[in-house]
Amino acid sequence: MKLIIASNNKHKIKEIKAILGSRFEEILSMREAGIDHETVEDGTTFMENAEKKARELRDISGAACLADDSGICVDALGGAPGIYSARFAGNDGDHGDDEANNDLLLEKLQGRSDRDAHYTCAMVIAYPDGSEVSAEGYMFGEILTERHGTGGFGYDPIFKPMGYSCSVGEITDEEKNKISHRSRALAALLEKISNN
Ligand code: IMP
Repeated sequence: MKLIIASNNKHKIKEIKAILGSRFEEILSMREAGIDHETVEDGTTFMENAEKKARELRDISGAACLADDSGICVDALGGAPGIYSARFAGNDGDHGDDEANNDLLLEKLQGRSDRDAHYTCAMVIAYPDGSEVSAEGYMFGEILTERHGTGGFGYDPIFKPMGYSCSVGEITDEEKNKISHRSRALAALLEKISNN
């Protein structure tokens, strides 16, 4: 069976291929599948957004489709920015404006000692027969008081994973892939597919 991923992000596609490669005959990005489509992400949860993306792409392509939605949730801010992580500082676009988002988060937590946070990733595969498999993955940690490192993307320079003494911006992609919310959601998804 063919799987189309609701993304053109090379890093995501590579990670998904590495984990789900043995389960599908072919794994394609939207671009590789010749599809240009943008889903309006108006869900109220990560899972609702991922489901909407996977279902729309499945309906357009007629193939099995995988979609994810992710972001960072800060306890002291009642879970914000959450599903609005990319556009926290108001800028839209694929990843909004990472610099402005980090500045705003640091500002909101200035002087606060309760800095617990976690990344969430919701992942869904929508199959042509209407069935679906979904899973979530998390990476827990805390928001630092300033940027460290230049690796990763988004909030990585100001996020320190639990059990680490440095930010995600200071670890390699390989290391991040072992502990990330995305790889954990993928692993949970693989387990469900394998048990089906
Ligand atoms: P997306 O669901 O992959 O498009 O991610 C939405 C937003 O959440 C991104 O623009 C980032 O701001 C944030 N985000 C999600 N995953 C990560 C991550 O692994 N590192 C840093 N930021 C992330």
